Amino acid sequence: MKLVIIANRIPLTIRGTDPLTFVRSPGGLVSGIDAFIKKANISNRVWIGWAGSHVKKKDVEKIKTTLEEEQNCIPIYIPEKLMDKFYNGFSNKTLWPLFHNMPTFASYKQDEWQAYQDTNKLFFKAFVDNVEVDKDTYIWIHDYHLMLLPSMVREFYPDAKIGFFLHIPFPPPETFMQLPWRKEILDGLLGADVVGFHTYEYTMNFLRSASRVLGVEHSMGEIVYSGRMIKVDTFPMGIDIDIFNLKDEKIDSQVVSIKEILHHKKIIFSVDRLDYTKGVYNRLLAYEDLLKRREDFRGRVVLILNVVPSRESVEHYQRMKRQIEEKVAEINGFFGCVEWVPILYHYKSLPVNELISHYRACDVILVTPIKDGMNLVAKEFVASRQDLKGVLILSEFAGASKELGEALIVNPNSIEELSKAIETALDMPEDEQGFRLKAMQERLRRYDILRWGNDFVNSIKEVSSKREALKTKELTNRLIRKLKEIFNNSKKRLILLDYDGTLVPISRNPNAAIPTEELIYALNKLGSIENTNVVIISGRKKDWLEKWFKHLPISLIAEHGCLIKSPGESWEAKCCLNQEMREKIKNIMESYVDKLPQAFLEEKDFTLAFHYRNADQEMASLRVAELVDELGSLIANTELNILMGNKVVEIRPASINKGTTAVSLCQDCDFIMAMGDDVTDEDMFKALPQKSITIKVGTGPSFARYYIPSQKNALEILNALVEDY
Ligand code: UDP
Repeated sequence: MKLVIIANRIPLTIRGTDPLTFVRSPGGLVSGIDAFIKKANISNRVWIGWAGSHVKKKDVEKIKTTLEEEQNCIPIYIPEKLMDKFYNGFSNKTLWPLFHNMPTFASYKQDEWQAYQDTNKLFFKAFVDNVEVDKDTYIWIHDYHLMLLPSMVREFYPDAKIGFFLHIPFPPPETFMQLPWRKEILDGLLGADVVGFHTYEYTMNFLRSASRVLGVEHSMGEIVYSGRMIKVDTFPMGIDIDIFNLKDEKIDSQVVSIKEILHHKKIIFSVDRLDYTKGVYNRLLAYEDLLKRREDFRGRVVLILNVVPSRESVEHYQRMKRQIEEKVAEINGFFGCVEWVPILYHYKSLPVNELISHYRACDVILVTPIKDGMNLVAKEFVASRQDLKGVLILSEFAGASKELGEALIVNPNSIEELSKAIETALDMPEDEQGFRLKAMQERLRRYDILRWGNDFVNSIKEVSSKREALKTKELTNRLIRKLKEIFNNSKKRLILLDYDGTLVPISRNPNAAIPTEELIYALNKLGSIENTNVVIISGRKKDWLEKWFKHLPISLIAEHGCLIKSPGESWEAKCCLNQEMREKIKNIMESYVDKLPQAFLEEKDFTLAFHYRNADQEMASLRVAELVDELGSLIANTELNILMGNKVVEIRPASINKGTTAVSLCQDCDFIMAMGDDVTDEDMFKALPQKSITIKVGTGPSFARYYIPSQKNALEILNALVEDY
């Protein structure tokens, strides 16, 4: 396997170029992926990302050679002005606040959106110029900076294996919809085979947004979009436990010295990047509240507040830094004395060993973000405490809270709750601390960074294998030529064609889905060929079919087989519907039309259909379940059944379906072809004799022998058949 990681940054921050010096880049993304690559022992890999602000254009080629050879990294140079609008602008002033569900902080600027598109193109170019893609190449794109990239890569390499993982939250649809470029972002993401999120909540938010913006529905997290299947799933990022539970003398002595320097006072530790999502200010307010309420803690506890520099050129972050520092000074000034400083404040990044020493030296760790995709600090702390001591206070709005339920879970917006949680933590008996930590450690061990990465890559593998398998069913031009040959040599032919979704695209307004002239022409010609019975087999009403196709030499089947009409003849009914029952069904369906805006009732001769294509899909899923339940009790022990079609619930005679109807027309035919897209067509695919050529329009599981991507291909087949006549 060759693994290509594409992320905003390479895992190294360049400090100087002559000579080349660098340190590890900060943040959870780099820690996680780096750990996965090492644990999984992936030697054939490359990491593409921005070179960093210290790298000038003239130096790029020189450092690229070194980094590519020694570190498997391909640094990308991005001009300063573009980077500013892309990174400080669209990524961190639009996407970051919006995706953390803080829309009031988000700004929407056209030039920054343009920069976002241009920068994604630069990443794409760097990828194409530097990476050879073969069947074994897995392209794993990371995070909110590069959401347009999956589709760019897909367009260039239609068969590539592409995964996208979002390291931050995905907001609820109401928030996501505020983005003027929401469709473009979803289009970009859906170029991937797999789109992954940290929690089930974010996955559902994404699926609900895709349904609202693009009208695509999912089935068990699988979406079919642009003729491809995409898997949307949850992969909670784990950590490399071994790094954090390592026994190390140097760390042990650092732990001792931290405790000694602080005279064995109780230590509360806090470490985050500078960010308004991390809730640092509220933490200070809670600590202040605690010191006010519990005088006995004064002089006995110390808060080590470590803030890691981040996005210093974004104004909002500078303001926040000042606000935090002022509050620290205020608390220290008010409560402190010669022997005791309540808060030890550091504005720097800690190397891993020092970080672990702090995790191990503290009594309580405060991880209380207002919103956080996952939060690895919480997991790292838990893994570090093999002594089974210490208490984790964790925000319910951090992704990690879904896995670390034994922590003291808090709502970080309540200063009172936070302050009480610190109090509870400081007073917590050691056996309770141990019991909670142990449960969490076991969970972290089971789903560690290796499992996370492997699950994700395997998921890409599965989706791409399904795509490959589907390809073998694709009705290619070569097969169409063969089909034509069989058609020409046959004596009695039957061609069964579903209408909506097969001959014309599905439309929000069924009355707008009218046949094109080209389609009418092809049907007319096909129906005129001797010994060829062309049948439109639809769920539609007879009047509608008659309006558009009456003049053609073809047969029409309405209401899935309840009514049949041969060319030039009148309609023949194949069933009946009791009037009293009809009224009851109608009353129930009408009551649901009232409850579900945009749903409507369609009354046909023998069936009644409840359509909900245009309704809000979330509300619809609830209402439809209730409707089906109610109808189910009404028609129990009758000759009727419920048909769940594509955004339609239909009641119809149980004995009639497209399968039984199609089979009744097959007699003596030596060429049978059936095309359809919906569940009702599956009845036909299943029931027809084995030799039949059954074709599904669109991907997804089917009993059909072949598939074609779209309605356009269906017309091409009809045109190919009539070509010689
Ligand atoms: N980290 C570090 N030094 C520090 C603070 C944090 O190396 O001084 C690392 C920490 O080990 C963790 C990551 O940075 O792996 C922070 O990840 P997290 O998910 O908690 O937050 P993010 O910064 O990604 O929002």
